[in-house]
Amino acid sequence: MVMLPRCVFKRVLQQFYSGHQGNPKSLLSAAFTALPGGDAAAGRRSQATIPDIRERTLIAVKPDGVQRRLVGQIMQRFEQRGFKLVGLKMLQVSDDLLSQHYSELRTKPFYPRLLHYMTSGPVVVMVWEGHKVVQTSRMMVGHTNPAEAQAGTVRGDFSFHVSRNVVHASDSLEGAQREIQLWFQKKELLSWDSCDQTVTCEV
Ligand code: UDP
Ligand code: MG
Repeated sequence: MVMLPRCVFKRVLQQFYSGHQGNPKSLLSAAFTALPGGDAAAGRRSQATIPDIRERTLIAVKPDGVQRRLVGQIMQRFEQRGFKLVGLKMLQVSDDLLSQHYSELRTKPFYPRLLHYMTSGPVVVMVWEGHKVVQTSRMMVGHTNPAEAQAGTVRGDFSFHVSRNVVHASDSLEGAQREIQLWFQKKELLSWDSCDQTVTCEV
């Protein structure tokens, strides 16, 4: 018979009643987990399985989105999904910033028109944080060409032509890091703990 200290016994009961199925096997697993170093002993978690909830991406509501008063609805989608806003500002973009942002597209035939569009009015640019936020936000934003974007995506719901596709989202981890540094100073980004952190993800 294993004697558990009172505090460990309390943790066993907490683990048992929060999320375990209530069968004897899960009670045993809860007991193992509650012991010091017990996560490993119970074979539950390893460093590799802990989700990276600090990934960040850059999302921008383009001038057409701002003109059409879509900022709130677009932000709401990211909040609703559970991502955390860590940077936000509205600005009139300079040609210089934009040419750095779209440097890979410089040789494209649509580039001059893209520059004109993106500087035609203010944009709202933000940094969102969360597990796999780069990949997930690309899915939420939808195909570059709204004609091919799925309904339910931002572009699929609010636009119909590639020349005015409402929103920008970084397309890779490296791209996100480059774009965040380009658009934001370090001091403009906040690291903060959201109270739902342990509710939306096992951390
Ligand atoms: N774009 C365009 N015509 C095209 C392709 C792209 O006007 O044929 C614009 C569009 O605004 C797009 C942006 O250029 O969002 C950047 O293109 P990219 O291929 O990076 O697409 P995204 O990453 O925005 O989906
Ligand atoms: Mg792109």
